[in-house]
Amino acid sequence: MNTTMNKKDQIENRIRKVRSYLDGESLSGLFLLNVESSNRPNLRYLTGFDCSFGALAVGKSELLFLTDSRYIEAAGEELNPLRDSLNLTLEEVGGKRLRSIGERVHEAMADGAGEIAVDPRNISLDHFNQMEDLIDGLTGKRGPCAKIRWVKDQGEIDLQRRAAQLTDQGLERTLEDFRPGMTEEELALKVEFYMRKAGAEEVAFDSIVASGPKSAMPHAHPGDREIREGDLLLFDIGARYGGYCADMTRTVHVGEPEEDIKDLYRVVLDSHFAGLDALAAGEKGSAVDQAARDVIERAGYEDKFRHGLGHGVGLEVHEGPRLSQTGEARLEPGMVVTIEPGVYLPGRGGIRIEDMVVLTEEGPESLSGFPKEELLVL
Ligand code: ZN
Ligand code: ZN
Repeated sequence: MNTTMNKKDQIENRIRKVRSYLDGESLSGLFLLNVESSNRPNLRYLTGFDCSFGALAVGKSELLFLTDSRYIEAAGEELNPLRDSLNLTLEEVGGKRLRSIGERVHEAMADGAGEIAVDPRNISLDHFNQMEDLIDGLTGKRGPCAKIRWVKDQGEIDLQRRAAQLTDQGLERTLEDFRPGMTEEELALKVEFYMRKAGAEEVAFDSIVASGPKSAMPHAHPGDREIREGDLLLFDIGARYGGYCADMTRTVHVGEPEEDIKDLYRVVLDSHFAGLDALAAGEKGSAVDQAARDVIERAGYEDKFRHGLGHGVGLEVHEGPRLSQTGEARLEPGMVVTIEPGVYLPGRGGIRIEDMVVLTEEGPESLSGFPKEELLVL
């Protein structure tokens, strides 16, 4: 584990980025409300503290964190080291908790006398309306959290590297256990068991295990279909570690594959490598998508690859930036994204090869380590 950046530095750095955004947009503050985990990743990102209920107000110089009796003690342990350097106040709210939050944030932010942004995607209309009545200056303008999270620091990359390793290990052990006749559900359970046995906190998302014709559905749910000779078998899986997600897809074959399936695997693999090669700082997400898409189009499968090439991954499995035909954002070192081209033949099966990749100053580096160079035959 790289310890060059400690947690205090990490959080201070993030709060600094929020404030510089607020200055740039002439906003006086940011308000995050997390009810039943509605804004959990952003709150965790800006405080280091993970909870299902809490609120954070970021002003020009002050920081107010509010939570209830269930979390106050643990929050104190986590946040006390940050109190002085961040001018952080930690308070418990009880009774009518939402009303208390609104009133306290209003008091704390009264000096700013300007607009206060929220995370529109992470606050319900009902909660926004309640808070708007209590907090002067609250607007629906978007705060910067989601975008700041696109670029990871070294500590985050270390956690994602570990999450990716646990995912590799989970798949490796699962395939060792594989026997024809097992169901998709059984394999999904094994993947989860082995990832967690290796050290994962949980699965980062519902595992996709899809066999035979079902592998042609990009987001199929595992079912009770028994896997047999001649099936393509697709695993789209990820472990979570230290809050951070991994995301990887491998497609294997049960029994000796036909030539056309081997050829198809080669097309998807070439597309995957074309995407990796195109991944560079300064490039637009859409250009990376196009580089990989060109390979599939040239092979005659242009209408069989109908999702984006990839997406950012971090505290959430789907974040920005998008690597898709509409991905306008330019890539930067520190971004962690997936490269996941696929070709899906309805009624027959699908092949997708997905790595999670960090873009470094020197270029892309795959964090996923499970072999992909050949279609693995079980
Ligand atoms: Zn995936
Ligand atoms: Zn993905």
